[in-house]
Amino acid sequence: MKKTTKIISIIAAALIAVLCCGCGGTNNTDSTADNASKGSMTAEEGKLVMATNAEFPPYEYLEGDEIVGIDAEVAALIADKLGLTLEIKDVDFDSIIPGVQSGKYDMGMAGMTVTEEREKKVKFSTSYATGVQVVIVKEDSDIKSIDDLEGKKIGAQQGTTGYIYASDTPENGGYGEENVTGYQNGALAVEALKNGKVDCVIIDNEPAKAYVAANTGLKILDTEYVTEDYAICFAKENTELQKKVNDALEALIADGSVKQVVDKYIKAD
Ligand code: GLN
Repeated sequence: MKKTTKIISIIAAALIAVLCCGCGGTNNTDSTADNASKGSMTAEEGKLVMATNAEFPPYEYLEGDEIVGIDAEVAALIADKLGLTLEIKDVDFDSIIPGVQSGKYDMGMAGMTVTEEREKKVKFSTSYATGVQVVIVKEDSDIKSIDDLEGKKIGAQQGTTGYIYASDTPENGGYGEENVTGYQNGALAVEALKNGKVDCVIIDNEPAKAYVAANTGLKILDTEYVTEDYAICFAKENTELQKKVNDALEALIADGSVKQVVDKYIKAD
């Protein structure tokens, strides 16, 4: 009798174990987040599809029909290391994260700043560069420092951190949404400044330098607004690609290749 009871309890324990595993398994496979890891590592086999916004010199810009710049070259080095063919898509900056989330693009690389808000939507690589938000004004502007921005008309690129900071409430260090106009890209924001539609443009320092060099009568205020880290973004669930790209990027940072690309495009002042 004793033996039978023991056997029954062993069977019962086994049953419970099987049932529990079953529950766990169902939960895992149920998640839509599992799709990317079940299928191929990349959106298209053998390709690394990168979304960028080629209006952000020297990180990405058009030279004829070709997208060149720091991000384009670093991405090419990464693709090379992984044996993938790089394909770069030029899209609006604020459609990069949604496209990466939906799996339309494998990654986004666009001088993109790591922020807590964005980290809720995508996963970031190790940072490969830093940027600083600066303010561009006309040479004869009465805006002498960032303390003079209150009540001024501010231009920024839609969806960028410059836009996000500037349009925040004054209590949070911003200038209020009603004072900020978002443009589709940095070039259009600078055009609006030249035409007197806005009094200043808040944008990352390297594109700011490029825009000031390409247009007469503009200058960058000395005050640095905010310092940020740039990184590559991936769909949260695409952990396999994310890890591979990150390992490749870290190796390219360690052996000096990334610095070499950055130095080619950004000359020390
Ligand atoms: N670094 C800024 C951001 O991530 C701007 C990037 C860009 O315009 N390409 O919001």
